[in-house]
Amino acid sequence: MRLIILGPPGTGKGTQSRMISEKFGVPHVSSGDILRENVSRKTDIGKKAEIFMKKGQLVPDNIVVKMMAEILGRGKYKNFILDGFPRTINQAHELEHLTEIDLVMNLESSEKVIMERLSGRRVCSACKAVYHIRNMPPKEEGVCDKCGGRLVIRDDDKPETIRDRLKIYQVLSDPLIFFYSQKGLLREIDGDQPIEKIFGDIVKAIKKGDLA
Ligand code: AMP
Repeated sequence: MRLIILGPPGTGKGTQSRMISEKFGVPHVSSGDILRENVSRKTDIGKKAEIFMKKGQLVPDNIVVKMMAEILGRGKYKNFILDGFPRTINQAHELEHLTEIDLVMNLESSEKVIMERLSGRRVCSACKAVYHIRNMPPKEEGVCDKCGGRLVIRDDDKPETIRDRLKIYQVLSDPLIFFYSQKGLLREIDGDQPIEKIFGDIVKAIKKGDLA
C-alpha cells in the first residue's frame, strides 16, 4: 500500500496517517516530522529548514526532495503513507522517479474548522505526541499523558502563521490535485467530519482500491 495524504494544514493528515499506520501496519512517513527532527538535532538540513519553517513557509524543493529521496530511496519502505510530501508539483514529479503510488487521499476542510483545529493543537516538547485542547485533551492540562513532558504550541501554529500556511497551500495544491486526478489516483474525503468518520471513509477507499 503506497498512499499519499493531501490536505491543508489542520485537516488532521497526521492523525489520520497514524491511524492508518496502526490499522494496516504501514509506516507513516511525515516530511514535517522528519524536518522537525532535523531541526532539533541541528543537522545541516535542520539549520537550513528552520528559517522557513518558523515563518510558516515551505522549505525549498531541493532540500526536501533530497531528504525524501534518501528516505524513500533506501528501499526501506515497500509500503508507506506519505504525509506532507509532495507539497508542490515539482515535488510530485520528483517523487515519480522514486516510487510508484497506489492512491492519493485528498482531505478537504473549511477555513473555520482548520483555524479551530490548529489553534487548539498542543504538542509534547519531549515525545512529540499531539493533543487538542477540546477534541483530544490530555488528562492533566499542559502535561503529556504518555511521558509527562510539557505541552507546547508549535511555532507555526500561531494564528498569523496559520493564515500564511493556508494561503501557500491553496496556491500550490491545485496543480497537485489536478496531477493526481488526471492519473486516476485521487479520492476526495470530507475533512470537516469528526476524526472517526474521516477515518471510516479513508478505510473504505483503501478497501475499494483493493489495497487491504
Ligand atoms: P507539516 O508538519 O506537514 O505541517 O510541516 C511543517 C512545516 O515543515 C511546513 O510548514 C513546511 O515549512 C515544512 N515542510 C513539511 N513538508 C514539506 C514539503 N514537502 N515541502 C516543503 N516544506 C515542507
